[in-house]
Amino acid sequence: MSKVLVLGIDSLSPALLSEFEGDLPNFSKLRKLSPAVKLSSIFPPDTIPAWTSIYTGLNPAKHGLIYVQDVFGTQRQEIVSIDNSIFEGRTFWDYASSSGKRTCLVFPHMAYPPWPVNGVMVGRSTTELRVPGGPKWAAKTEIQIYPQEATAKHRIPPFMTTVFGNYPGRRKLGEYAKDLWKATSDEAEFGLRMSRESDWDLYFMYFYLLDNIQHFFWRYHDETDPRYPGAGPYKNIIRDSYRLFDSIVGEFMNSNPEATTVVLSDHGHGMRPPKTVNINAFLQQKGYLVVNAKRQNPAVYLIGRLKAMLLAFVHRHELDYWLLSLATSRPFASMSKKVYVSSGSIDMRKSVAFLSSFAGAKSYSHGGVEIAANNTSGMSYEEIRSQLIKELLGLTEPSTGEKLMSWVRRREELYTGQYLSRYPDIVFQLKEGYGAYWDVDAPLIGTAYEHNIAPGGHKKEAVFLVSKLDGRTCARTDMTLMDIAPTILDLLGLDTVVHPEFDGSSIVERSG
Ligand SMILES: [Zn+2]
Repeated sequence: MSKVLVLGIDSLSPALLSEFEGDLPNFSKLRKLSPAVKLSSIFPPDTIPAWTSIYTGLNPAKHGLIYVQDVFGTQRQEIVSIDNSIFEGRTFWDYASSSGKRTCLVFPHMAYPPWPVNGVMVGRSTTELRVPGGPKWAAKTEIQIYPQEATAKHRIPPFMTTVFGNYPGRRKLGEYAKDLWKATSDEAEFGLRMSRESDWDLYFMYFYLLDNIQHFFWRYHDETDPRYPGAGPYKNIIRDSYRLFDSIVGEFMNSNPEATTVVLSDHGHGMRPPKTVNINAFLQQKGYLVVNAKRQNPAVYLIGRLKAMLLAFVHRHELDYWLLSLATSRPFASMSKKVYVSSGSIDMRKSVAFLSSFAGAKSYSHGGVEIAANNTSGMSYEEIRSQLIKELLGLTEPSTGEKLMSWVRRREELYTGQYLSRYPDIVFQLKEGYGAYWDVDAPLIGTAYEHNIAPGGHKKEAVFLVSKLDGRTCARTDMTLMDIAPTILDLLGLDTVVHPEFDGSSIVERSG
C-alpha cells in the first residue's frame, strides 16, 4: 500500500499555478499527473475554519471554529483560547494512527501542543514571540514534539524563527520578503529531514508563509489592480515565492519517490476588492438600522469623522504604514475597531439589522447580516429575514444598475451543525471586486482604503493535486475541504474507515 505525503500550503492559488506554469516545473509535473480537481474552500474562506475542516472532515457549523484574523485582532480572544480538544483524536492523522498507520506530522497549524499519535508529531505554537534586537517582523515560535524522546533523535530545536503577519511598511517590504523566504527554506529543510529520518505511512507538513506574501505584494504583481504602481522591485516577489515552493515540492517528491504526493491549500488568493458596498448605510437607508442620535460616545464620533478624512488622505499619499500602526496601537485599537465596524455609532436598542463582523474587520466579498430579534416590532423573525434577503438581492450599483450580490441565503441553507448560530442570520457573497463595509451616513459604494496595505485577499478556489491514484479512479472532480480527510484515508488504503462524522466523502474509488 502506498505511503502518502501531504504538503499543506496556505493560500496556494490554482490561478497563479496556471499563470506561472512555465516557471514551476515541479508543480506543472504534478498537475499533469493529477486529475483536474476543483477544490472549493468553505464559507468564509479563512485559515482557521478552513484548516479545521481539512483536518476533521467537518463543515464549520459542526466544528465551530469560525474565527478569523484581522489587523484589529477583533477575534483574538477567541483565537488564543482555541485548545486541542477540538482536534485531538478527530483529525485524519488520528484516524490513520488508530488504524495502525505510522504518521509523521510537522507543524500542523493550530494543533498545539502535540498529542500522542502512532509516530511523531511536531507542533508549533501559534504564539509569536518577539526577537529582541531583530526587525519588527522577526518572531520565534515554540516547538514541542511527541514523543519527547524524539527531540534528541531528530535534533528538534526549542524555537523556530518566523515572520509576523504584520505589515512591515512599504520601504521595508523587500527586506521582509527575504526574511520570509529564509524562514520558509529553513522550515522546508527541517521538514525534509523529518521525512527522511522517521518511518511513516502518512506524512503531513503545513506551510503558512505564502499567505503573508500574497496579502502584501498583490498590487505589485497584478497589473489590473487599481493600485498597481508599475513594474518595480516588488513586481516578481509573488512569482519568486511560488518558485521557492516549487523547489520545495520538488525536493519532497525526489526525496520520497515511492510516496503518493498530495499538495493542497485551504483557500486561494487574489485581489482584495478595491470597491466597497456600505451594507450598513443601505440598512440605514431602508430603516433597519438606526444611528445613535445622541452620539453617546463623543470620542468615537469624533474619530469616525476624522477617519474618513484621514483615510482618504493616507490613501492618496500612500502614508499607509504609520496610519495602521497608529490605528492598531493601544489604546486606539479597540476604538479604531469600533469605528471600523461602526458599532460605536449604531443604536443597538432600535436597530433591526446590521452588518456582521463574523468574517473579521476586512473588506472581503463575503459577509453576513445579523438580525436583532428583539427589535423586529410586530414582524416575525422569518418575515424580516425573507424581506431582507429580497432587498439585499435587489442591491444594484447606482451608476450602472448592475446587481451587486452573487447570492444571499439563510445560514441554514449554507451548513447545518450545532455551531450554526456562530454564523449571522443571513449570509451573502458580493460580486467580484466589491467588499462589504460598515460605514453609516455614507454613500452605498465606497473605496477599500486598506487596499494599499493588504491588497491581496482570500479566494474560495483552492488547490488539490495528487501524484497517483494507485489503481483507483477519480470519482468526481468537484471537491470541498470536507472531502480531504476521507480522501487521504482512502489513499492510505483505509477505504473501510468511513467515519460517521465526516461531512465529506472520498473523491477516489477503488476500481473493480
Ligand atoms: Zn489560509
